[in-house]
Amino acid sequence: MDYISTRGEYGSLSSQAILQGIAKDGGLYVPASFPILSKNELESLIPLEYYERSAYIIGKFLTDYSQKDLETYTKKAYSRFDGDPAPVLKLDDEIYILELFHGPTYAFKDIALTLLPHLLVGARKQLKVKEKTLILVATSGDTGKAALEGFKDVDGTEIVVIYPADGVSEMQKLQMQTAAGENVHVIGINGNFDDAQAAVKRIFGSEEANERFASMGYSLSSANSINWGRLVPQIVYYFSAYLDMVGSEEIKMGDKVNFAVPTGNFGNILAGYYAKRMGLPVNKLIVASNKNNVLTDFFNKGEYNANREFYKTMSPSMDILVSSNLERLLFELYDRDFERIIDLMEKLKYDKSYLVDVEDIEEKLSEFIAYDTNEEDTLETIKDIELMFGYVMDPHTAVGANALYLYLGDSNDKHKSVLVSTASPYKFASDVVYALEGVKVEGFKAVKKLNDCTALEVPKQIQELKSLEKRHTLVVDNSEIEETIYKLLEK
Ligand SMILES: *Cc1c(COP(=O)(O)O)cnc(C)c1O
Repeated sequence: MDYISTRGEYGSLSSQAILQGIAKDGGLYVPASFPILSKNELESLIPLEYYERSAYIIGKFLTDYSQKDLETYTKKAYSRFDGDPAPVLKLDDEIYILELFHGPTYAFKDIALTLLPHLLVGARKQLKVKEKTLILVATSGDTGKAALEGFKDVDGTEIVVIYPADGVSEMQKLQMQTAAGENVHVIGINGNFDDAQAAVKRIFGSEEANERFASMGYSLSSANSINWGRLVPQIVYYFSAYLDMVGSEEIKMGDKVNFAVPTGNFGNILAGYYAKRMGLPVNKLIVASNKNNVLTDFFNKGEYNANREFYKTMSPSMDILVSSNLERLLFELYDRDFERIIDLMEKLKYDKSYLVDVEDIEEKLSEFIAYDTNEEDTLETIKDIELMFGYVMDPHTAVGANALYLYLGDSNDKHKSVLVSTASPYKFASDVVYALEGVKVEGFKAVKKLNDCTALEVPKQIQELKSLEKRHTLVVDNSEIEETIYKLLEK
């Protein structure tokens, strides 16, 4: 399988795409075509464990890796989870929850970021890379810690994570500040996620920066969802949820289901779209945004406009105005016409906005439906779901739940729906306690309170944060990011 860039570059191996992270022309790598899984193949995956399903499906895309290696990698990665990496729970006869937060850092990012280091080390071997691989990561909160955890002390790699110092939850911040490993660096910025992402993209695109890193013995790669190696592991859980539902006779093979997905950088839900393209019976993909509702406007009106107020919400991992992976979707919406993508991305760069003619792409757009949820309704959803079902969810998942209920209310859709649950409520304990009990408590007091008022066990790694040393407390201005990286690496 060859990889192509959304901006026209042609013919890379999957290992090259993963090692590089972003194409040289500034575009994002996508597979030259989508492999289709037949019904028989799907049937044959039902009795398998998650890591085996994963190796099988990923093997369709990463054809220059051996199947045996992929199975070793997925087995290692998914043994780090607490039980099944992607269990499906039944809320009622219509709604199911796919829990993706049982990995080492308690957010769905672990599904891809426990595996990516193995894929990257494999790529380094295959391509006989001598220099070190420097992973630059911009994070809105969860990617950072998951990447630090995945890459700590991995041979041949060094990792730098850039996060908004004032834009993540207390637990997310502590998780990053206490990160262990000799090859890890963390930089807080006086800016938001979009600033962090823009800085990383600028460095990737700068010849000068690339040369300077090369002179220091590094070549750059990314652990953000712009890297194909982040997306491909995420395709698997859409299949896995479906196979589990067939296996437990909640649905019959071939029945369509909806997926509701809390969305920020558009990576998670894009993986669902790819699963559909591969033959998974999906009806609607429900794009759930918080108050930063750029994507709702895009899907409803064809207008992508990042010139708007940026809100800090209680679902910080979705506080994003420039959703990178939408570029990959646009590429498909426009039948892979890369010239159109170059044009739209230029507009985005210079005007921070673009307009598409919805009528041109109506049919493809209708595979999605988008809703956004404000802060008040997020709190109410957490409370309502707890009252109705005794199920406690985090604020990101609540944004997804509210979107799903809005959709079911607006439509007469009788398909079963899967809500993708993206984080443990303990990562956002303060807001969850406020939603449930109406009291404001912070930090570990909130963790204790959440434990007191629910039957949920406190995850081990959250408990441990209390006693770990804060190793990374540096905070810099946006203009200092690049220089700070050089300084940290020279130490
Ligand atoms: C990253 C994240 C999201 C958004 O996922 P995207 O792939 O960026 O759309 C949603 N919820 C949580 C908890 C996250 O960490």
